[in-house]
Amino acid sequence: MSHYDLIVIGSGPAGRRAAIQAAKFGKSVLMVEKGRQVGGVSVHTGTIPSKTLRETVLNLSGWRERGFYGRSYRVKQDIGADDLLERLNMTLSHEVEILEHQFARNKVQTLRGTASFLDSKRIQVLTDKEDVIEFTADRIVLAVGTRPFRPNNIPFDGRRVLDSDEILDLSYLPRSMVIIGAGVIGIEYATIFSALDVQVTVIEAADSMLGFIDRELVDEFVHDLRDRGMRLYFKSQVKSVACVDGDRCSVQLTNGRLVSADMVLFAAGRQGATDTLNIEASGLQPDKRGRLSVDSKSFQTEVPHIYAVGDVIGFPSLASTSMEQGRIAACHAFGQEAHDPPEFFPYGIYSVPEMSIIGMTEEEVQEKAIPYECGVARFRETSRGHIMGLNSGFMKMIFSLETRRLLGVHIVGEGATELIHIGQAVLNLEGTLEYFVENTFNYPTLAEAYKIAALDAWNRMPKQQPSQKTVADLQDLARQA
Ligand SMILES: Cc1cc2nc3c(=O)[nH]c(=O)nc-3n(C[C@H](O)[C@H](O)[C@H](O)COP(=O)(O)OP(=O)(O)OC[C@H]3O[C@@H](n4cnc5c(N)ncnc54)[C@H](O)[C@@H]3O)c2cc1C
Repeated sequence: MSHYDLIVIGSGPAGRRAAIQAAKFGKSVLMVEKGRQVGGVSVHTGTIPSKTLRETVLNLSGWRERGFYGRSYRVKQDIGADDLLERLNMTLSHEVEILEHQFARNKVQTLRGTASFLDSKRIQVLTDKEDVIEFTADRIVLAVGTRPFRPNNIPFDGRRVLDSDEILDLSYLPRSMVIIGAGVIGIEYATIFSALDVQVTVIEAADSMLGFIDRELVDEFVHDLRDRGMRLYFKSQVKSVACVDGDRCSVQLTNGRLVSADMVLFAAGRQGATDTLNIEASGLQPDKRGRLSVDSKSFQTEVPHIYAVGDVIGFPSLASTSMEQGRIAACHAFGQEAHDPPEFFPYGIYSVPEMSIIGMTEEEVQEKAIPYECGVARFRETSRGHIMGLNSGFMKMIFSLETRRLLGVHIVGEGATELIHIGQAVLNLEGTLEYFVENTFNYPTLAEAYKIAALDAWNRMPKQQPSQKTVADLQDLARQA
């Protein structure tokens, strides 16, 4: 039986970072992955494929140029499933190659197979050749991620009724599509297919979408989607889905409405992939959605030598945060110094148009009774926006009236997921409105929106001369926010 300092189960962003960090500390590391290749959901069915699909769609459809040349403008007239899959396969194999090289270079041993617990320190791996191999480890990191939730009343067939993993094996491009669930994944795919002129209907049980996003941003986004012909049915529950051979699929809603389409994508939730782990043998008990609970700073479970990181521990379920969690867990496991996970991290939604946020929403600021002011900039007010032909997109910044500290940045529109990092830096460094007012921004850029939004707020806020205050004064004020 082989022994390792660390066994990592799952090779997605969380597991990968934990494994490599531990290897960099000189530890012996085994990484077990049950998928055909390393990379996890992030590389094979989630982040990278959906973003590659998005990029392909935006390029082939000529979406970014339509502001100038009109809604009928196309770079390629007949876009088929093959066009979408070609670039996808190239990108994914490149990602896998890089990962395999990273593991080899750092001497992380990888094994293909399904890992399960024999006891809290003993793991058994069933390989694809049906061999069973046992290992022991001082520390174990669980990074098994999630899989799509597939309720029994949805007749998944992998062709016309699909989950969010299967959509990437698309065999044809439908003319119409019903998407069940207006969460991040549902909305990303809804807007990507809508950019291809697929008639999209979104069905969502809640009375709006993306509850954690600033309402003004969501209102703007919903207006944009409806304006381009997408149907959004909120407060709607699915009763049944039926597909008759050779016919379209019908989605019956509990409110009596019947929606028909060529294809149905079910994207209403994911659940922790703890079911293959024989988890009870480890001493841990997942919740009813298969997720594990951990200490929010160290990612240690109730069994001290077992850590859990990434999507299996729930919110925020992002590749970006999963990687950080993996690294912090490895540091903690081997007694190395690690920073606390930051309170504020950016959230990117790669819809078309994209959205990104950091910090508090206006609703949260109101709930906390913090006196505040907002500054808003529309991308069409920037010269870069004119050059790019942007008709939509806006940025909203929220500042504390008492400390002038930046409390939140909310962006919808082209480049939002890149632009947000300026706001992130200022916010996490406890910067104030004056940073934006007193600094010069490259021109013409979309980042100039920061300046415009800050001046918008500055013009309405009580004036003060921050340069007369010492840095210590400003830091004191910022801490009170
Ligand atoms: C459609 C979609 C789009 C997304 N877009 C973004 C985005 O734009 N930005 C972003 O930051 N995040 C995005 N995400 C989220 C991101 O993909 C996840 O947060 C991330 O993959 C989680 O990483 P992880 O390491 O926790 O697990 P995963 O990436 O899920 O990897 C877990 C791995 O564990 C393996 N495994 C499970 N059980 C076992 C076992 N018993 N033995 C061995 N191996 C096992 C699985 O095979 C899998 O490979 C998206 C997700 C989806 C579904």
